Order: sequence, then structure tokens, then C-alpha cells
Amino acid sequence: MITRTRGAVAVGVLAAALTACATVHPQQPPRPAPSASPAVRAAPTLAPGPAGLTPVFHHGPRDGGRTVALTFDADMTAGQGARAAAGEHFDHPQLLAALRELKVPSTVFMTGRWAEEYPDQARSLGRDPLFEVANHSYSHYAFTGGCYGLPTVPADGMRADVERAYAVFRKVGVRDPMPYFRFPGGCYDRQALKALVPAGVTAVQWDVVGGDAFATDADAVARQVLDGVRPGSVVVLHCTRSAAPTTERAVRTIVPELRRQGYRFVKVSELIGAAGGRD
Ligand SMILES: [Zn+2]
Repeated sequence: MITRTRGAVAVGVLAAALTACATVHPQQPPRPAPSASPAVRAAPTLAPGPAGLTPVFHHGPRDGGRTVALTFDADMTAGQGARAAAGEHFDHPQLLAALRELKVPSTVFMTGRWAEEYPDQARSLGRDPLFEVANHSYSHYAFTGGCYGLPTVPADGMRADVERAYAVFRKVGVRDPMPYFRFPGGCYDRQALKALVPAGVTAVQWDVVGGDAFATDADAVARQVLDGVRPGSVVVLHCTRSAAPTTERAVRTIVPELRRQGYRFVKVSELIGAAGGRD
């Protein structure tokens, strides 16, 4: 569980960070786009949104069959290194082992800070075809003000924060990280979408909140996911054991039940490809 001895402020920031990741925000409808160009066909992206802003993806087609994407945010906020050194687990090897055992294609939205702390796991994820690694910022700071008390990245530092995470991924040996970005806390506004245009990413939100942050009841997490999933859903969960300790157990319930219902697990790229292939 969370170390409570390092001060209310530090605990509060982590709580905010994780809670923020599991909170739905006002969303805009996804914007269908033409087919990806041949150059990016291997990693489908959406066309720019209104006024050339970074496109935002929430879920795949509802009528495209029973597909669902489990996504796992590997959170670690800049400044938490001392806590990791003291033994707090921001990683979750048991969860990753379960996903491999159950053969669940998954998308991991990884912070650069997490990849720095756990380079072997990051490399392993980044070279395993079962997974795709996408970007959850370097710092896990917020990209808008008023995002659950997270420190805020200034607008002129947003692109650099995203690109710093990609630089860490390359350094530790992640192959072909995806051009997808999840805003810390899911918090974004027009300014943030504008600032990230040069980074060339598609922003990926979700339509199902797993509710695993600070959960203590794996069955409740599983129920929440199972109640929320529809065809094309994107589910947000976490790959951070200290703050989301029940996720592995929840996944062991969620996966067989959704398969029993006829769902096929896919990576986010497949859902974006399905959405982008429509007019
Ligand atoms: Zn997060």
C-alpha cells in the first residue's frame, strides 16, 4: 500500500495522480478520420481534430464486433524516486505476468519516469508483441490547471515532456513505441491539444473506468469493468502495484468472463485503425 510516512503532501499528490487517472472528464465525441496513409499504417492514427488540434480517441466502433482494449497506466510522478528507492512498488510484475499467462493483448501507457525506474520491465514490454507501449508523459504532471492537485506542465513545455518520455523509451530499448498519448489524469483542454500537435500523437482517453486506483476489493473492480464494457470499449486500469494492488486479481476475473461473453481483447491500435478506416 501507499507509504504514509512521507508526509501528507506526498501522499496527497500520489493520491491525486492515481485518482485522476481513474476519473472521467468531459469528453468530446471521437472524430472519424480517413484511412491512415501508407507511412503510418502500422500505427493507425486519427486525422487532426477541429482546427488542426491533436485528435482525441475515446473508444472504437460500437458495431465493429465484440472487441475491447484493456489499457494500463504505468504511473510514476517525477519526484517519487526516493519512495521507489525506499521500496514502494510503482511497478506491478504480477499483473504483467498474468496478462502474459492469459495472453491478453494490452496497451501500456507508460510514463518516462516509470521507464527510467524499471528499464528492464519497460524493455521487456517494448519487445513483446503481446503489448504496445504508448506515452503517458515523462513527469505525470497535469497538462491543464486544476487537475486533482497535480503539478502542471507549462504550455511551452508540454511537447518536450512527451518527447522526453519517448527519448527514455528509446534509451531503455523499447521498440517502436506507439504515437498515442494519454494525458495524466485525463485532463486536457484546447491549449494542450494545440501544444501537442507537433508531437504527432493521438490522445487516447477511455470510456470505461476500472476504478482500481486505491481499490481494496478486486471483485468490485471486476464488476465495474464488466458492467461498463461495450463493443469497442477502452478500459483504463493501472500498472502501479502500490496504488492499485487489486488489478492483477481483477484481471483474472475480467478476462475469462469477457471471453465467455464473446469479447476479443485487442490493443488500442486496432480500435483506432477500425475507427480511422471509416468515413
Ligand atoms: Zn496516470
